[in-house]
Amino acid sequence: MIIDVGNIKIGTDFIPIQTMIKNSTKDITLTIDKIRKLKDAGCDIIRITVPDEESVIALKSIIKESVMPIVADIHFDYKLAIKSIEAGVHKIRINPGNIGNEERVKEVIFALKDRGIPVRIGINGGSLPKHLKEKYKDEVQIMIEAAKEEINYFEKYGYDKIVLSFKSSNVQTTIEVNKKAKEIFPFPLHIGVTEAGDLIDGTIKNSIGISHLLLQGIGDTIRVSLTSSEFDEVMVGKRILESIGKRSPEIDIVSCPTCGRTEVDIQKIVFDFKNKILGKKFNKKLKVAIMGCVVNGPGEAEGANFGVACGKEQSVLFKDGKKIKVVKNSLILDELLILTKEYENE
Ligand code: SF4
Repeated sequence: MIIDVGNIKIGTDFIPIQTMIKNSTKDITLTIDKIRKLKDAGCDIIRITVPDEESVIALKSIIKESVMPIVADIHFDYKLAIKSIEAGVHKIRINPGNIGNEERVKEVIFALKDRGIPVRIGINGGSLPKHLKEKYKDEVQIMIEAAKEEINYFEKYGYDKIVLSFKSSNVQTTIEVNKKAKEIFPFPLHIGVTEAGDLIDGTIKNSIGISHLLLQGIGDTIRVSLTSSEFDEVMVGKRILESIGKRSPEIDIVSCPTCGRTEVDIQKIVFDFKNKILGKKFNKKLKVAIMGCVVNGPGEAEGANFGVACGKEQSVLFKDGKKIKVVKNSLILDELLILTKEYENE
């Protein structure tokens, strides 16, 4: 089943990357600017929280200016869901279990139907229904049963533009519940390990969980949840997809781990270079090497389009396997950017 979220499709070979805006929705200028930069960084769909009426008003302005489809994240208040749909949002994310009685859920479903807007039903390990926890012991089973109950509402009122997500902070639970969900439900799956921790822990957990599932053909869109910026979430998501061959990298940066021979701050050069080229598009798939020494660097960087092998005060730039220039170390970053420019699509 393929679900349209604005101009992005969920349920095809292309796996859209999502993140969620972390500042207040009411800061319209910041949000619009961030959405534009996140698109450049590789994000495909953006989620925004709508916790109150003022946020609905802000949402309207954000939708007008947004360069990618917007998902409104709603909890508890069904009226905010309906108002977000009326504001022109491209998808809503709700947990029908927390928006009250069936009558309210029905009103939301009818509003979705009116506009043909899809919904993501989010089942989170941290907020499972009490009656199911009392009935079943196994967390995976509780999550699946919770989804069945929520899908029932939508089936009853004849609406199936549904994406499902089953989130847990535990990698194994995330994998197991999504495998089960793929067997049972016909709907696309939004996958990721939630509340996964900081940049390092969260990257590891999400890389394992998401890649394990995607390599088995499970999962249709991803969000890497990190206690870090939206940009880190998108960057990690993009690298996961590139690493398992689900998305072609624009640029592959090869950098050495450094050792006792290293005389320059390679970590800083790599960090600054990555930030400077963020979002740039190239006319071919590029491999750039940033190596710590002139002894082993060029050899280890074999196959790179261009790169640098750093020395104590001066460093060697190479291109297509040949040395092209010796530059002062203070100019390494500038020189790499000049070489990058040759391959850029304006
Ligand atoms: Fe060490 Fe040079 Fe290899 Fe980097 S390229 S790890 S500095 S030997």
